[in-house]
Amino acid sequence: MRKPKIVILGAGYGGIITSKKLEKLLKSGEADVTLINKHEYHYITTQLHKTGAGTAVDRQIAMEIPDLIDPDKTTFKKASVTGVDVQKQAVHLEGGESVDYDYLLIALGFDIETFGIPGIKEHAFAIRSFRSTKAIYNQIIRQLSLYKEDKDPSRLTFVVAGGGFTGVEMLGELAEGLPKLCKKYDVPFDEVKIVAVEAAASVIPFFPKESIQYTTEVLENFNIQLHMSTKILECTPEKVVLENDIEIPTRTLIWSCGVKGNPIVQDCGLPVIKNKLPVDSFLRVQDMKNIFSIGDCSLFMKDEKNALPPTAQVALQEADVCAKNIVATIRGGSLKAFEYHHKGSVASIGTFAAVGKVGSFRLSGLFGAFMKQVIEARYLLNLGGPSLIIKQHFGFSKEPV
Ligand code: FAD
Ligand code: NAD
Repeated sequence: MRKPKIVILGAGYGGIITSKKLEKLLKSGEADVTLINKHEYHYITTQLHKTGAGTAVDRQIAMEIPDLIDPDKTTFKKASVTGVDVQKQAVHLEGGESVDYDYLLIALGFDIETFGIPGIKEHAFAIRSFRSTKAIYNQIIRQLSLYKEDKDPSRLTFVVAGGGFTGVEMLGELAEGLPKLCKKYDVPFDEVKIVAVEAAASVIPFFPKESIQYTTEVLENFNIQLHMSTKILECTPEKVVLENDIEIPTRTLIWSCGVKGNPIVQDCGLPVIKNKLPVDSFLRVQDMKNIFSIGDCSLFMKDEKNALPPTAQVALQEADVCAKNIVATIRGGSLKAFEYHHKGSVASIGTFAAVGKVGSFRLSGLFGAFMKQVIEARYLLNLGGPSLIIKQHFGFSKEPV
């Protein structure tokens, strides 16, 4: 009998953990599993701000996919997905190749939301992927070097748009990384300005008052200029334009104003709601029996009005149930309904501070920072066991190219 073909699109949190779960759940020879990702490496999205500010080495953030999977059980294919032909059960790849599937998981993650604001797509720097955050780091280094030649102060002004968790984590990392980079490139740190712009009345507006106050104080202690209740209206290569006739001369706007589903999902011939693939309680794309979707490109309604947020925590919990449901579908067994259990959220503000909430318990300061490290280490443990943590931290793994 022909072996069923399972194809997984995207080796981010959702995709790679599903493939690892399938390695455990499937019997030898029960199915062929192919994992497709546009890069040879898996990156730790939750730590990308560190790549941007140069506060982590590459091997801590990006690791080669073939080192993380069992090649006897999962075939890895480095390729960019361009679309899906649902009728022919085929995935189209850049370059014209296609891959057939019997069962498909779409876990292609997120793209940044620009709200059509002029100049953002062209001139702002996104916290989206390992490559895009490496571009932030390279931009910082370039501006420090050029400042030495022309002393243009706009080169030393770094603006972060959006004061959600991503923005706050980026600000903390810049405050910690820039003094070291200035020293290395012999530029006076006193001349550097870090600016935060947030449309709402405060940073992390969705968090309790005490947490907002704590975060604001930490950012102010880092000498970060805060422009709250102020929207960014435009970005050019030399300035950002804010509401209330404010203009900030800068060469570096880092954009963290929210995310949307990967636009590729629009080209899959599948139903799309709010740029995402709506899924049923078993994580199958609406009206499909053999196509699943999880993570930031999928839309799972936790009740009539509210969808689950685009977080790693959601993608990881979904991966566990999705792997079980793919296997159950192949075996003709019954599927498990997905139930999300929120375990809390913690955002770092540099290495020694963090803000978060677990249940009704508010976390902050050094304890919060420690908890954040524990959460990150737990993910690595899940992904590759204790040896991966050792490799990541002590440098025995290859750097991605
Ligand atoms: P992703 O992790 O984005 O993976 C998608 C994968 O698909 C990537 O490997 C990508 O290369 C690949 N891909 C994309 N397009 C194609 C294509 N066309 N062809 C082939 N492959 C493709 N959430 C938390 O719960 N906790 C946190 O602490 C946290 N911190 C965060 C910090 C930052 C700076 C950011 C940006 C996000 C953070 N999040 C956090 C959110 C979290 O990272 C995402 O929700 C999570 O990455 C979603 O997982 P995913 O598998 O859906 O997508
Ligand atoms: P977000 O949507 O949570 O925050 C974006 C912020 O940008 C909002 O506060 C919004 O008011 C602001 N904004 C929007 N348009 C603006 C404009 N024109 N000018 C100025 N400000 C503007 O997005 P995010 O922070 O990128 O987070 C995305 C997802 O990733 C969320 O689900 C988040 O929970 C998750 N995440 C989690 C963590 C963590 O748990 N540590 C860290 C990072 C991200």
